[in-house]
Amino acid sequence: MNDSLATPQLRLFNSLTREIEPFAPIHAGEARVYTCGPTVYNFQHIGNMRAYVFADTLGRVLQYKGLKLTHVINITDVGHLTSDADEGEDKMEKMAALQGKSAWDIARFYQEDFEADLARLNVQPKAHPRATDYVEEMIAWGQKVADKHCYEAESGLYFDVTTIEDYGRLARAVTEDGEGRIETVEGKRNAADFAIWRKTPAGETRQMEWDSPWGKGAPGWHLECSVMGEKLLGFPFDIHTGGIDHREIHHPNEIAQNQAFCGCGGLSEATNSGARMWMHNNFLVERSGKMSKSSGEFLRLQLLVDKGFHPLAYRMMCLQAHYRSELEYSWEGLEAALTRLKRMVMAAERLADATSQPFAEHPKFAPILAKFEAAIADDLGTPIALTALEDALAVKKVDAGIKRAVVEHMDSVLGLRLFDLTRADLRIRPVNASIDEAEIEDALTRRKAARAEKDFAASDAIRDELVAAGIEVMDGDPLGWDWKLS
Ligand code: AMP
Ligand code: ZN
Repeated sequence: MNDSLATPQLRLFNSLTREIEPFAPIHAGEARVYTCGPTVYNFQHIGNMRAYVFADTLGRVLQYKGLKLTHVINITDVGHLTSDADEGEDKMEKMAALQGKSAWDIARFYQEDFEADLARLNVQPKAHPRATDYVEEMIAWGQKVADKHCYEAESGLYFDVTTIEDYGRLARAVTEDGEGRIETVEGKRNAADFAIWRKTPAGETRQMEWDSPWGKGAPGWHLECSVMGEKLLGFPFDIHTGGIDHREIHHPNEIAQNQAFCGCGGLSEATNSGARMWMHNNFLVERSGKMSKSSGEFLRLQLLVDKGFHPLAYRMMCLQAHYRSELEYSWEGLEAALTRLKRMVMAAERLADATSQPFAEHPKFAPILAKFEAAIADDLGTPIALTALEDALAVKKVDAGIKRAVVEHMDSVLGLRLFDLTRADLRIRPVNASIDEAEIEDALTRRKAARAEKDFAASDAIRDELVAAGIEVMDGDPLGWDWKLS
């Protein structure tokens, strides 16, 4: 952080109060954040990845504010059913059966793929605890709250949501009569009650099961986040994040468990929610249904790369929208985001040889930095922050070192890697392209030579060759790009 800047107070939208509130760290100089992570039964789609780009941006802003960040994204490798409530099949076991692999192998494979996607999107490293490593703690938590808050049914141990005060206040849903939920679990007292422990049905064996006071089985999905949040960050911690769908079931249930735990643990606050602030990103939507993991070619980051887009173009696309707005996906939108990133990388290229210089109070940059800081402090206003970054890149007649330092400073929040990316990095060859980069460069060199000798017939022939291979030669492109894949 640049201490000489009086940065505006950070204000964030808290889903609990539905208001923008000043952020004050619970532990001086620190910020502790928990982000609900993926269920690793399949690849992540780019909608899922929006949730982590948002969480990462939040983390970067907290660091920019000078706070030491502890950030957890858990890995759900057990317990998640095909519905967020207690209905359906176990996602892990279902995929394991489908692929003829063990549930453990499935979990490791998709966790690695997820972590590779995070890295490609320049999400900073975070702690990634796995649910299966915390089963003992989950059982202990269940034992602690069972007497006062739970009851046993044939299929498991259930949390009775009427035993805590103000259940569902996060969702603001009418849950008293279970509106909106389908009651299919036998023995459940209230439709909103949820499993703390699911027993393995008699006569069956599951790949992932453990002994517990309630019989062999596996923990309910909501329990892991309560347990890992408390273990790794301590209650209360600062911020809990997730996608907006979690505001309806998963997070109200986590809060219910946290209240019960705090009450049973002698903690004074009966309404302790575990985290002080709950934040939710809105959805990335795609009209044709390609976001769904059940569709054949679903929208994964790798598909974008296969089609020739750098992953950071997708990060740019996310940052261009406010995290609380729905973002509609389109290939044209991604193309525009890539072009914007290219422009920025090219402007940053001119600062490649400069050494960063202190920039405090610089007359040209101070107002731009003020705009940037006001934007991010206002509930992570990345769309405006991006325009401030462009303003900074456009400043003329200034010391390159100062300019570089300002841009680096802003990019520490936006995470676009402007000084690492090159034009070549952004020119990804689609998997189905029939020509490789060396051939393209070679053809362009031959064409340049032909033009220098005023042999326009030869130059045009080379151009046609490239067009046939799907390459558009971009003479006079204001961006200075030599060619693109058409
Ligand atoms: P899951 O693996 O289903 O638990 O989802 C991982 C994260 O992605 C959760 O925080 C979800 O709320 C979030 N999420 C799911 N779909 C979308 C979407 N289309 N856009 C943004 N976030 C999403
Ligand atoms: Zn969670």
